[in-house]
Amino acid sequence: MKRVLIIGGGFAGCTALERLSRYPKEVMVTLVDRKKEFNFLPLLPDLIGRGLKPQYLTLDIESLVTRKGFCFVRGEVVSIDIAAKTVSTGTTQLPYDYLLIASGSETNFYGNEEFKAAAYKIDEAADMEKIIAALKDKKYTTVVISGGGYTGIEVATNLVSYCRQAGKHKKIVIVESAPSLLGMFPQGLRNDTQKNLKRLGIEVLLGCTVLKATGSTLHISNGKVFDEVLFIWTAGVKTALFVEQLPFEKNRQGRLKVDAYLRVQGDIFAAGDASAFFYRGNPLRMAVQFSILQGRVAAENMLRRMRNAPLKEFKPVDLGYIIPMANNRSCGMVMGIYVKGILATLLHYLMCLYRLPTLRNKLGLMRTLRI
Ligand SMILES: Cc1cc2nc3c(=O)[nH]c(=O)nc-3n(C[C@H](O)[C@H](O)[C@H](O)COP(=O)(O)OP(=O)(O)OC[C@H]3O[C@@H](n4cnc5c(N)ncnc54)[C@H](O)[C@@H]3O)c2cc1C
Repeated sequence: MKRVLIIGGGFAGCTALERLSRYPKEVMVTLVDRKKEFNFLPLLPDLIGRGLKPQYLTLDIESLVTRKGFCFVRGEVVSIDIAAKTVSTGTTQLPYDYLLIASGSETNFYGNEEFKAAAYKIDEAADMEKIIAALKDKKYTTVVISGGGYTGIEVATNLVSYCRQAGKHKKIVIVESAPSLLGMFPQGLRNDTQKNLKRLGIEVLLGCTVLKATGSTLHISNGKVFDEVLFIWTAGVKTALFVEQLPFEKNRQGRLKVDAYLRVQGDIFAAGDASAFFYRGNPLRMAVQFSILQGRVAAENMLRRMRNAPLKEFKPVDLGYIIPMANNRSCGMVMGIYVKGILATLLHYLMCLYRLPTLRNKLGLMRTLRI
């Protein structure tokens, strides 16, 4: 029996675990995660503006793993000894024959400790609870979101919904360093998004960065100063520190380059946000659909290696994307077709409903989501 070690109990890691659990006579799996709970990240912004409850977006990883007859270790991976084939959490050494790195991505403050201390981040449900608690504090008259990617935009629209429902008035500002929002996306989608943000009264500062955060005052590079600010950081993500330190080739975001079979090297595989699979010259974007598919293929290829069978190529199927906005003027491309408005919103939540891990999670979403 071979030992498989999975780092990360997110979309990729849990999918791989599920696939491997079908072959209990061939593999013994250990899954290590620093968190107790799996978090359904695409619904985090909805905790602010759509009345969702955190318990419906999370799932206890240990019970998931032990139900499959495998072993869960709660701990933060700090290093991998490639020669000795062990993973270290600092206190425990975990041996493996096959390794899957599925540790996802996390907020990147680009080494700025001042911003890290001052800003709220969006990595897990607990972060959203902190933001919701801070929103109740009357002293914050303005919310500044640094980073105008899809997360920043979705959060901003949810903040407007929250304020309307709670009868609060707060100025919502997005600060984006690029000259336009969503620069990688088609022009029509960018225009519709921009128009919607304007309609919602969200101020967008393009080509600007936050320069300094002193107490609750923010200094912006265009000379503007905001006081009494609740500061949210969505300006980028990076891979875990232990991934950064691995002696393998990575892309700009520190994602591990993988081959056509999702191998980093030998018996080490990577899947999800931690991996960079190059497709038509670019790394696949970070998305749930690719993480799930990669988790499945990586597990399949580990089994094939054990059986000395030819490996299976990973062939991505891109179903598209949606930029969800809380007033239901969402937009996106689904199977090559541009969709917007309530249809785009509904497609997003259908995807979430389908992907949520358990019936309890699905029923929770259906019962509590306010569309
Ligand atoms: C706010 C937000 C909204 C999003 N919306 C969408 C959307 O609408 N559609 C979409 O397709 N995608 C969306 N995404 C992206 C999507 O969630 C990610 O692509 C997906 O979660 C990646 O899956 P993963 O399995 O690679 O990593 P994750 O799901 O992030 O799981 C990684 C796991 O690894 C663990 N881990 C990390 N480092 C360590 C370590 N050192 N030691 C031990 N454990 C570790 C973490 O605790 C975590 O449990 C969104 C992301 C965010 C943050």
